[in-house]
Amino acid sequence: MSDSEGLDAIIVGAGFAGLYQLYRLRELGLRCRVLETGEDVGGTWYWNRYPGARCDINSLSYSYSFSPELEQDWEWTEKYPTQPEVLRYLGHVADRFDLRRDISFETTVTAAHYDDAAGRWRVSTNAGRELTAQFLIMATGCLSASKLPEIGGLERYRGRTHHTARWGRDEIRFDGLRVGVIGTGSSGIQSIPIIAGQAADLTIFQRTPNFSMPAGNRPLTDAEIAAMKADYRAYRSAQRASRIGVPTPEASLSALAVTEEERNAAYQWGWEQGDLYSMTGQYVDVLVDPAANETAAEFVRAKIRAVVTDPVVAEKLSPRTFPYGTKRPCLDTGYYETFNRPNVHLVDVRETPLVEFTETGLRTSGAHYEFDAIVFATGFDAMTGALAAIDIRGRNGVTFSSQWSAGPRTYLGVAVARFPNLFTITGPLSPSVLSNMVVSIEQHVEWITDCISYVRKADCDTIEATAEAEEAWVQHVAEVASMTLFPRADSWYMGANVPGKPRTFLPYIGGVGEFRRICDEEAASGYPRFVLARAADRPEAVVS
Ligand code: NAP
Repeated sequence: MSDSEGLDAIIVGAGFAGLYQLYRLRELGLRCRVLETGEDVGGTWYWNRYPGARCDINSLSYSYSFSPELEQDWEWTEKYPTQPEVLRYLGHVADRFDLRRDISFETTVTAAHYDDAAGRWRVSTNAGRELTAQFLIMATGCLSASKLPEIGGLERYRGRTHHTARWGRDEIRFDGLRVGVIGTGSSGIQSIPIIAGQAADLTIFQRTPNFSMPAGNRPLTDAEIAAMKADYRAYRSAQRASRIGVPTPEASLSALAVTEEERNAAYQWGWEQGDLYSMTGQYVDVLVDPAANETAAEFVRAKIRAVVTDPVVAEKLSPRTFPYGTKRPCLDTGYYETFNRPNVHLVDVRETPLVEFTETGLRTSGAHYEFDAIVFATGFDAMTGALAAIDIRGRNGVTFSSQWSAGPRTYLGVAVARFPNLFTITGPLSPSVLSNMVVSIEQHVEWITDCISYVRKADCDTIEATAEAEEAWVQHVAEVASMTLFPRADSWYMGANVPGKPRTFLPYIGGVGEFRRICDEEAASGYPRFVLARAADRPEAVVS
């Protein structure tokens, strides 16, 4: 691989976003190369192979919409697809559209510098290669930079360690082992019941209990697959116009306007749907009014008490420090039941904080625990971590870190002032993680493709968001978030799980449909919040 490829675009990452971006830019006639750290396509679905890993959006919904033939041909088997099934799907997409020939696997981008004189991005990889291209598209994912617990001594520990987001490709089992799991987010909650079924003894280190509800996973019936396939176009339109990328009814009633019996009956109905939105979606104010929210929170706590036989353990598992839904809720299969097993123990690390790893295990302020294996389900440096891991420099060598000391700054989560021709698919300050990711990815990819097409048709060489547009968007994202309860939680949405990370709300909570409208308006009116320029008169020439 060398610069002789004469690339128009470099795409970083071969997950849902990178694959679709390659497909679209090829259609436009661009010469592209995708650079991917993994040995195969899949992105987050390549790395997160932990036991129990499963999507918690319905498979018929969590899939590409761009190819009606693909939609009709592919057969999803379960309500919530397993990680291997999603990975098979992405492998099928890569083969079906002959995408692999433009992907370099086992290739990690280490730096990307904008060369002002040449008007091109210079991209360096871990293999010492350098490529250049006019456009640079970061398809690096929102949850891809994994994080470890911030305690010392890990190098001393002699047992096995596994991170849920960096799981090996071979099957990993825990039969007969003493196992520790750190973390009780979605990854911990999905994997813990399965690890508990294998391990001789399992100790779970919990810093913050999460709200979780039964996924109610099951095989899809032929009838529901046929019904969706018969109506896919209308369903996809509804997804695009929706709030979260899944069509849901809009509530109009306050949770406080009904009796407790009515409310609990409505929550019970939502609970039984086994999805992330039916319960909160019952009432208009669950995510904005603390008293309304508490009714939902208490409903879930009562469910936990009904399952977990030891009342002390049940209380430790009951979230009380943040409003329901403001940390991402989880869907599980037998999570709370796991704590009734005699081989499972819960350690609250707020009571007895983690102190250090030792040669044989883990020490808290209260005890030493010996383990044959430790599983880190400790999450990610979300939304900005994968970008920060690369030395990205825009005009005059400016870096993200120098501009983002108070939190990420983007326009529409897709463009950054002073970084010409750089696009971030579902970047910070876009709906991304608050939505069905595939819907948001398709929207950004299509917008980026149209934008590049516009630049070329206008006979321009660069496009760059203005600092004013960026500032206005940063303000708008914060303002919309402040109308909700989300900023009250110490969540990864707020950057609160990474010590030293600025506390700002990272995604845009205005809704997928509204966000699409704003993006479409920007494009339809000729990108007024961007500067387009020609190489000949760069940087002063402004043609739009
Ligand atoms: P996560 O939600 O951030 O959970 C990480 C867990 O580790 C939290 O319980 C966290 O505690 C704990 N933790 C982190 N650092 C710690 C430390 N130093 N000491 C003790 N505990 C520590 O990460 P995740 O479970 O990997 O999930 C991240 C996101 O990925 C999810 O919210 C979801 O969006 C996505 N995901 C989706 C699925 C799915 O579709 N089914 C599955 C997995 C993940 P605190 O809460 O106190 O920070």
